[in-house]
Amino acid sequence: PARQPAAPSPEPADRETICAVATPPGMGGIGVVRVSGPATAAIARAVCGRLPAPRHAVYTSFADAGGTPIDTGLALYFPAPHSFTGEDVLELQGHGGPVVLAGMMRRLVELGARPARPGEFSERAYLNDKLDLVQAEAIADLVASGTEAAARAAQRSLSGVFSQRVDEVQERLTALRVFVEASIDFPDEEIDFLADSDVVERLEATAGAIHALLAEARQGRILRDGIELAIVGQPNAGKSSLLNALAGADRAIVTEIPGTTRDVLREWIDLDGIPVHLADTAGLRETGDRVEAEGVRRARAVLAGADLALLVVDLTEAPDPQLALLDEFPDLERARVVFNKSDRMTRDQTVPATAVPATVVSARTGAGLDSLKAAIRESVGAGEQTEGGFSARQRHVDALRRAERHVAQGRARLVDEGAAELLAEELRLAQQALGELTGEMMPDDLLGAIFASFCIGK
Ligand code: GDP
Repeated sequence: PARQPAAPSPEPADRETICAVATPPGMGGIGVVRVSGPATAAIARAVCGRLPAPRHAVYTSFADAGGTPIDTGLALYFPAPHSFTGEDVLELQGHGGPVVLAGMMRRLVELGARPARPGEFSERAYLNDKLDLVQAEAIADLVASGTEAAARAAQRSLSGVFSQRVDEVQERLTALRVFVEASIDFPDEEIDFLADSDVVERLEATAGAIHALLAEARQGRILRDGIELAIVGQPNAGKSSLLNALAGADRAIVTEIPGTTRDVLREWIDLDGIPVHLADTAGLRETGDRVEAEGVRRARAVLAGADLALLVVDLTEAPDPQLALLDEFPDLERARVVFNKSDRMTRDQTVPATAVPATVVSARTGAGLDSLKAAIRESVGAGEQTEGGFSARQRHVDALRRAERHVAQGRARLVDEGAAELLAEELRLAQQALGELTGEMMPDDLLGAIFASFCIGK
């Protein structure tokens, strides 16, 4: 479908030629600079001495203004529209050193290109209909993915799996709108038209399709963003041991997730393909009435932001004072008790009843860990297999939810009030919500915000 950017298309910016280093900073075997825009062919002639044959790797030197080589390497020329951005694109693959690459950039700027803003190559690909917004976002998600499952899901979004599903729903909505609006244009026949038709069934089928897509998008969001998991409990309850046991042999603790909106330093583990972010709950470690106000405030904030909070209770100590920590939890719906050190349980020891679901484990022997992992996945709606899914963002989930609500409201308007006009309006709003998802109808400032979160050179 034709894209209709809401604001005037940024013609002047499009006429500029942009350049950027596409490889990460530092030293490497190769370093790539990329150029896109109308001056690309002229720049290629100036730097390489000739225009490389389209889509063929040409070994050449990259000359400075005086004709002296800055570097030598491969040049690749992709004439419009068969390029990533849809414009003329030049890729120069030289040696991966910061000084060489800075020299290349200086040369390109001298020849009329300007350094690209973050995400500007992807933005141009989007503006030139090479990608829709979901696919452009999937590029950023693929690069930033923290687990293999997340990378596979982003790859599927990039290949258009998610977009196609949205387009299918859009087609259903278009067909319904045509039908309903025709009935409004011929008011005499309205009653029969809508009553005799299967429009209510079609509305319900459409609502069902959006609902199924929403469930998958929610899972896709978890694959991308992961779960916020808070682990609390008194000192020596076994919180660190539990973390290590959950992470298993593949423990991957990193301190930063690039490309996400979280700029604070965090730890995370890969829990069978789902990124699990571990929230620091140091404040609750000093339990009881000696808890500092600041500690409690911080712990509460962590608990409030968590998708799930685990209270680790040491089975070798009296359970009641430990379970009293549950009073600090803002939301018991998203809490779970983990009784730890089951290997030390005596023969006649029983586990006390708790206000929230509980799992008995031993971080030392690994007993009960599989059911705890399953419980964690299930509690955040990721219980089912996530294979075959696609990556999604909160923005997508919100848009689908709005579309679902408009279809449901439209159905109610028709069934309860026989109001075809109101149904038509709700269907229009549902389409608008989905249009924002794929970027067909998208305010410019939102677009800018999305692309600004990309890396330079992407
Ligand atoms: P934290 O202070 O809550 O992080 O607790 P740690 O993970 O540091 O564990 C405190 C102590 O309990 C350590 O000596 C652990 O080896 C021990 N511990 C942890 N989990 C278990 C368990 O499942 N069984 C037994 N027997 N000891 C455990």
